[in-house]
Amino acid sequence: MSKQGILTVVSGFSGAGKGTLMKALLKKYDYGLSISATTRAPRAGEEDGREYFFLTRERFESMIEQGELIEWAEYVGNYYGTPKKYVEEQLAAGKDVILEIEVQGAFHVRKQFPEALLLFITPPNANELKSRLINRGTESMDKIESRLHRASEEAVFMKEYDFIVVNDDLDECVERLNEIIENEHSRTLRNDSFIEKMSKELMAFKKGDL
Ligand code: 5GP
Repeated sequence: MSKQGILTVVSGFSGAGKGTLMKALLKKYDYGLSISATTRAPRAGEEDGREYFFLTRERFESMIEQGELIEWAEYVGNYYGTPKKYVEEQLAAGKDVILEIEVQGAFHVRKQFPEALLLFITPPNANELKSRLINRGTESMDKIESRLHRASEEAVFMKEYDFIVVNDDLDECVERLNEIIENEHSRTLRNDSFIEKMSKELMAFKKGDL
């Protein structure tokens, strides 16, 4: 079956638990998680080059100009973007790569990589999302309101994604994500060369060969 790396885009409302989910997924399975560039300030405990590359607006804009980003978007007042080099190298080496990005970015990626798999992570209901954002304690009430407002705009785009994954139980969600990506390797459109080889071999059989 397909040995080519699959590019998976994971989006979801801010507070859906994507960060925790990605950490748990990577601990258990071998995926390449792209590290984005951003102009937002690091949160307590975040490290440059681990959660994000934290850049000035000038540096970020120069990356845009130099064509060093696959996609970029402005989200609640800050730039976020995916560096091209890592993704291209990993995919070429046959590794499955995950981008954890918001919806505008996801659709830019789909344009450039039509075979990318788009997954949307959501908590089971809106109240749960609100309490997760409040309990995380990393943002002011003002920022939480902006993020909830943004979530209501993003909800419109959920149906454009290939799969919706409800993040209720972390371990179950990790398994579900891994299963979806694994299954994607079996999709017929990703297995042209296998299909061609199998067909050729079958056609080569001749009557009387047995
Ligand atoms: P946060 O500030 O909570 O870390 O991220 C805010 C939003 O930006 C999240 O929805 C996250 O998925 C998104 N994001 C992170 N990196 C990128 C990126 O490289 N490109 C885009 N378009 N969005 C990103």
